[in-house]
Amino acid sequence: MKIKLHTQILISIVLGILAGYFFREYIPTYITPFGQIFMRLLKLLVIPIVFTSVTLGIVSIGDTKHLKGISTKAFTYFISTGFIATTLGLILANLVKPGSHSAASVEGLKAVVAKNPPVSEIFVTMAPQNIFESLSKGEVLPVIIFAILLGVALTKIGIKGKPIAVFFESAFEAMLQITDWIIALTPIGVFALSANTIATLGISSLLSVLTYFVTVLVGLIIHAVIILPIILKVFGNYSPLALFKSLLPALAIAGPTASSSAALPITMDCLNKKVGVPNKITSFVISVGTTIDMNGTALYQGVAVMFIAQMYGIHLDLIKQGLIVLTAFLASAGAAAVPGAGLVTMVIILNAVGVPIEGLSLILPVDRLLDSCRTPVNLWSNSIGAVIVSQHEGEKLRPTTDNEGTIIDMEQEVSERESQLIKPADRFKKDREKELETV
Ligand code: ASP
Repeated sequence: MKIKLHTQILISIVLGILAGYFFREYIPTYITPFGQIFMRLLKLLVIPIVFTSVTLGIVSIGDTKHLKGISTKAFTYFISTGFIATTLGLILANLVKPGSHSAASVEGLKAVVAKNPPVSEIFVTMAPQNIFESLSKGEVLPVIIFAILLGVALTKIGIKGKPIAVFFESAFEAMLQITDWIIALTPIGVFALSANTIATLGISSLLSVLTYFVTVLVGLIIHAVIILPIILKVFGNYSPLALFKSLLPALAIAGPTASSSAALPITMDCLNKKVGVPNKITSFVISVGTTIDMNGTALYQGVAVMFIAQMYGIHLDLIKQGLIVLTAFLASAGAAAVPGAGLVTMVIILNAVGVPIEGLSLILPVDRLLDSCRTPVNLWSNSIGAVIVSQHEGEKLRPTTDNEGTIIDMEQEVSERESQLIKPADRFKKDREKELETV
């Protein structure tokens, strides 16, 4: 009997946690290297998949008006859910007051984050200056911006853009194929990564800031299990449980890697094939959302700033808390989708409300573990956004495979594969005919 992929993944996580706890000393030598190899394979695909899918997505969207519709809906979702997440974090921090129940002390704390990035830097570094440098350094946002420009340009130049559009179509399909092979390795990768996370974790450090830890965790659970599913049901008319099952491989990777970017190729693959969200939606919402839409990070930053302020005995009134909600969106959007990024950009919020940045040392010991909890929430929220935008764009969700990867809709699979190639050609032909008519 073949065990289903999502069951295999869940078993791997449990076994990984047990192995990490009971065989702590053997994990770094015998198990961690498998996790590292898996992580490298995932990272290998991020830039090629973002570059090809965004370019192709923009070509298949076809006109800038349609793109504007998708981006407006996506940003409305990102901003509103980001605000809800931070507000929830603040409500919990006010109710629980984790800073009053902590054994840690603020005496003699040193700054853990030396660099204090100005907000403007986030926007400046988004602008691409050398695309080859951005590709090789893995800078996702500049690559997305270049891909959008390229996609719009290919559409504008008509038939002359066809060869490059076809090239991107093939390259994207090939990346998805490689992603499928990597998905098959998920149970092994997730086992090794979970074992490593548990083996390298200091349980004692957790106890000193336990109330803070539990407050963030409860907030993440309420947001992921209650609020986001309601939003999905109401605005996306889609079953949260079905979406969860389809996304399980991606969510299982986001946890132990603490990187939404490492999980990005698999997220796209799951949404495109198992949920049936068209690539023109996922290419934009998931690529951009992975770095900008971070609900889990925003919620955690809200609680963390309140906790640090409470530890220092600083009272943050309602106006200051409103400022936290505003700046947390910027700080979470400015955080790269890599481990620990949310901790660094939290400096923006601390500075805005006048709380000492040295306080970050207090939460540092548990940050990696919380990162493993907030990253899946980032991915979950982002994927819900993709489904909602798709439904509101009037796109029918037609999955081509089941959750095991078996093709269930051959006709759709064939037309999916052909549509990107044929439609742009048709459109280019029509554009060219129009151009000739006007001459
Ligand atoms: N690790 C998170 C992510 O990749 C970002 C953060 O909160 O540090 O989504």
